[in-house]
Amino acid sequence: MDSIPAPPPAHGSFRQSVEEMFGHAATLLDLPPGLEEKIRVCNSTYTVRFGVRLRGRIQTFVGYRSVHSEHHEPVKGGIRYAMSVNQDEVEALAALMTYKCALVELPFGGSKGGLRIDPRAWNEDELERITRRFTYELSRRHLISPSQNVPAPDMGTGEREMAWMADAYKRLHPADIDSRACVTGKPIGFGGIHGRTEATGRGVQYALHEAFRHPEAVARAGLSGGLEGKRIVVQGLGNVGYHAALFLSTEDGAKIVAVAERDGAVVDEAGLDIAALKAHLSASGGVRDFPGAQFLADADAALELDCDILIPAAMEAVIHEGNAARIKAPMIVEAANGPTTAAGDKILREQGKFVIPDLYANAGGVTVSYFEWVKNLGHMDFGRMERRREEARHRLLIEELERLSADQNLGWSLSAGFKQQYLMGADELTLVRSGLDDIMRGAFQQMMTVMADDSRVPDLRTAGYMVAVRRIARTYEALGL
Ligand code: NAD
Repeated sequence: MDSIPAPPPAHGSFRQSVEEMFGHAATLLDLPPGLEEKIRVCNSTYTVRFGVRLRGRIQTFVGYRSVHSEHHEPVKGGIRYAMSVNQDEVEALAALMTYKCALVELPFGGSKGGLRIDPRAWNEDELERITRRFTYELSRRHLISPSQNVPAPDMGTGEREMAWMADAYKRLHPADIDSRACVTGKPIGFGGIHGRTEATGRGVQYALHEAFRHPEAVARAGLSGGLEGKRIVVQGLGNVGYHAALFLSTEDGAKIVAVAERDGAVVDEAGLDIAALKAHLSASGGVRDFPGAQFLADADAALELDCDILIPAAMEAVIHEGNAARIKAPMIVEAANGPTTAAGDKILREQGKFVIPDLYANAGGVTVSYFEWVKNLGHMDFGRMERRREEARHRLLIEELERLSADQNLGWSLSAGFKQQYLMGADELTLVRSGLDDIMRGAFQQMMTVMADDSRVPDLRTAGYMVAVRRIARTYEALGL
């Protein structure tokens, strides 16, 4: 079960795809000789094979932790549990983390890890033993540490696995007062932060909000108006896809007209009820038989449905040279990492599609991970010192306005709703969302500026890479490397 090698990628190497995308941007930057290669190559990849006694025999597992760039430390990146995990994929994802962190200005280098395992094939106790052993192997090589390398959840992992990793690390380093900062995406109550679970999907929503604030971006996609009523297709209703679809449909008035999952896709022109669909998926293991929706057995065909916005939120290389020309959505938001191959990207570009690229679109997760890491190192919740003070100042202002109105017979009255909202000091979730929104807005504006200033820049992806690579180059130059 554990020793079956991952099949070769059907649409070329993921790492080569990322390198090609990086290459487009690098040719437009005037980098000193040698620096381009220094930035592009992956610094190191550690492969671990370890055994755990389970079900009456020693089961062997293969895991990886790749460090792409240490221009800032710690390096940061998720840990994926999937049978498809391999060195090429982990290195591609680590490189993406480097560029993503640089684009959204987080002080991290890029890393990524993976364990070749089908998490559904093992029970909770077994997964815990495997995860603790994997943590031990990583810790021995300083590949998990608050100051050097900080993992997070990715496909197949979540806050449960992060809690096991944090606890295993703590046992190995009992005197480290900052041990909880060794991983992010932990549960609340175990060093986690409000808003981390929703963060990547929330970031996708904020990315779309910002795109629709730019008429030139909306026009490039051939769309008009706002998000309300836009018809969206989502691939993958996991952590990222679910939260993005939920917020876009319940808060922005967009319609999720189709969702593709492993077993097929469901379509409803009236808009799917995302919370109900998620409950159905969790209960039955698939989307088939979801009441009121049409079922398509061919999940991949859903990517080619007519819609305004396509959100691939499952896995890499789903848009490739074989299907890119058939994609109808004029706007594609890459919530997953690497959903478009370099060959597929070229076709999308030729067809004039507006692609909001992965290194930006899914940066919400690592952004809120950064907030969590800072919170762990600060040993205090965000908002704890200011919240009541802020409320007291707001109360003072309201009381003064009401006194003035009464004294001067002005007849002003503040609505109860306004008073309640204005009086409420910001809690941690509010602050996290505010910080995330600020970062997502800023990065989008920087990419749009690069595109507007240089006619050679064909798309947002190239612009995003250019912003990121320029920043990394400046850091290396400052370090004298
Ligand atoms: P997840 O495991 O929670 O969800 C993935 C979902 O995709 C699952 O529901 C799965 O059933 C579905 N899926 C798998 N194969 C599919 C297929 N062929 N067709 C349709 N659906 C399929 O994973 P996630 O954390 O939501 O991650 C999804 C993507 O987002 C990955 O590329 C990941 O690297 C990226 N990402 C995740 C985060 C995060 O914070 N979790 C952050 C940044 C990027």
